Amino acid sequence: MSLWGKDLNQTRLPSLEGEKKIDILIIGGGIAGLTTLYYLKDYPNACLVDASLIGEGVTKNTTGKLTFLQNTIYSDLAKNIDYDTAVSYLESQKLAIELVKEIIEKEKIDCHLEKVKSFVFTNKEKEIKKLQEESAFLTSQGIEVNNEDLPLNIPYLSSISVKDTYVFHPIFYLNHLKNLLKDKIYEYTKITKIKQKRGKYICYGEGVKITASKVVVACHYPFFLLPFCLPLKSHIEKSYIIARKVEKNPKFSAINVTNPSISVRFYEDESGSYEICLSSSHKTSKNQDDVKNFKNVKRIFNIKEEDVVAFWSNVDIITDDKLLFIGKLKKNFYVACGFNTWGMTNGILSGFILNKAIRGEKMPYEDLFLPHRSNFYQTKNFFPNLFGSTVSFIGSKRRNKDWYKENLVFTKRNGKPIAIYTDKEGKKHTVCTTCPHMGCSLIFNEKEYTWDCPCHSSRFTLDGECIKGPSTKDITYRE
Ligand SMILES: Cc1cc2nc3c(=O)[nH]c(=O)nc-3n(C[C@H](O)[C@H](O)[C@H](O)COP(=O)(O)OP(=O)(O)OC[C@H]3O[C@@H](n4cnc5c(N)ncnc54)[C@H](O)[C@@H]3O)c2cc1C
Repeated sequence: MSLWGKDLNQTRLPSLEGEKKIDILIIGGGIAGLTTLYYLKDYPNACLVDASLIGEGVTKNTTGKLTFLQNTIYSDLAKNIDYDTAVSYLESQKLAIELVKEIIEKEKIDCHLEKVKSFVFTNKEKEIKKLQEESAFLTSQGIEVNNEDLPLNIPYLSSISVKDTYVFHPIFYLNHLKNLLKDKIYEYTKITKIKQKRGKYICYGEGVKITASKVVVACHYPFFLLPFCLPLKSHIEKSYIIARKVEKNPKFSAINVTNPSISVRFYEDESGSYEICLSSSHKTSKNQDDVKNFKNVKRIFNIKEEDVVAFWSNVDIITDDKLLFIGKLKKNFYVACGFNTWGMTNGILSGFILNKAIRGEKMPYEDLFLPHRSNFYQTKNFFPNLFGSTVSFIGSKRRNKDWYKENLVFTKRNGKPIAIYTDKEGKKHTVCTTCPHMGCSLIFNEKEYTWDCPCHSSRFTLDGECIKGPSTKDITYRE
C-alpha cells in the first residue's frame, strides 16, 4: 500500500448497470480522467466510469511531484526532435502547474500543496555536460537555474535546481474532485469493448451498454489495440518506492539524470514527516526480481528495515519520443496517456486540452501531443520496440520457474499454464498465468503478492482478479 493509498476515499459510488445514452463518456478516474470531468462539469450529460475506486490506479502510487524540471527532457527534445518542440513542452508543463494551482485554490482543496525547489543531479562524469545543456536551455527560456549543492546524503558530482515547483498529496486532490463530481461518476464499471455505430460509440461492460456521442479514454493503458497500436510506440517502466519516517520536511524534491534512477521528495502531515525514496527503475521486460529491486532501494538510500513505513511499486508508459499522447484518435474519440512518469502535470494538462477539444475549440498543443504523430525519434524506435516486445513475449514464456523462492507450483491443466500459490495459512490460490491482453506470461510479484504482466503492465490479485489494465479479463482458474 502506498503512502497515499491509505487515504483513498473508500465510499463507493454506484456502478452503472443496464443501458444508458449520454453525450460524453470518460473512461478512467485517475488524475487524467477526473481532471477532464472537472473541466467538463458544466456539460450536460457527461459522466465518468472507473473499473475500480477513483484514484485506485497508477495515480495512488505516484510520488506526487508537480514540476517542470523532469530529468534532462528539454535538452533531449531539442537534440532529438527540435528546439521549438522543447520550448513548447516546457511551456505546457509550466501551464499545467498554473492550472493545478488554479483548481486547488478555486475549489479550496486541502491536498498539502507545497512549494519546493526541484533538483536534478548526477554522479556520472559523462552526464555533467547533459546537466549543463539542460541548465543552458532553461536559462535561455528565462528560468532561474541555480548550481547549489544537493541537500541529500547521496553521492553526486553536479546538480542544478529551479524554484516554483510543487509537491502535493495526489489522493487528497482526487478525493475532493470525486466528492465534487459524485453525481457524474460510476465506480466499479469496467468498459471492455467499444464499437462505433452510426456516428456514436457503444461502450460495453459487464451488464452495461453506454451509447455516447464523444468518448475520452483515460484508463492509463488503453485496452484496445487499434486504431492506436500503443505497444509499438512505447514501453513500460517500473519503479520501487519506500517511505520512511524522518525528523524534518525539507522543501525540495530531487531526481537524477539516468540509471540507476534515484528520486526523492518529502511529505508532512499530523502523523509526522516522511521521505519518499524511489529507485531501481527498469523496463518491465528486464530486472524482474522485485525482492532484489526493493533491496536496492534500501541500499541506495541506506534505509533500515525498522524505518520502513510503506513500500510499493508503480508503472508508467514511456513513449518513444518522450512526448505525450493527448488528443483525437478519430472523430469524437480522444485519448490521454503516455505520461513518461510525469502524469501529475500531464494528467491535469490532458483535462485542460481535451475540454477544449470536446467543446470544439482550438486544442492547445494539438500537433505536439497528436496520438497519430510520427517523427524521426519515434520511427527510429519502431523496430527496436517491435524487437523488444517480441523478446519480452518469448522471454516471458521461457522464464525459469525455479527462480521463485515462494511457495509456488507451476503446472498445466487442460493445456493451460497454471500456477498454484500456497499462502502462509495453507490456502491455495490457483490462476492461469497467461495475460488475457496479448498472451504474455505473467510474473509473480513476491513482494506485493500480485501477478504482473512484463509486457503491458496488467496486474492481477493472488486469486486472479484483474486490478490493472490493459487486460479487461481476470485470470481466475476454475476446474
Ligand atoms: C514510480 C512512479 C512515480 C511517479 N511519480 C510522479 C511524480 O512525482 N510526478 C508526476 O508528475 N508523475 C509521476 N508519475 C506518473 C504518474 O503517476 C502517472 O502518469 C499518472 O498517475 C497516470 O494517471 P492516469 O490518470 O493516466 O492513470 P490512472 O491513475 O491509472 O487512472 C486510470 C483509471 O482508469 C481505470 N480503468 C482502467 N481500465 C479501465 C476500464 N477498462 N474501464 C474503466 N476504467 C478503467 C483504472 O481503474 C484507473 O482508476 C510517476 C509514475 C511512476 C511509475
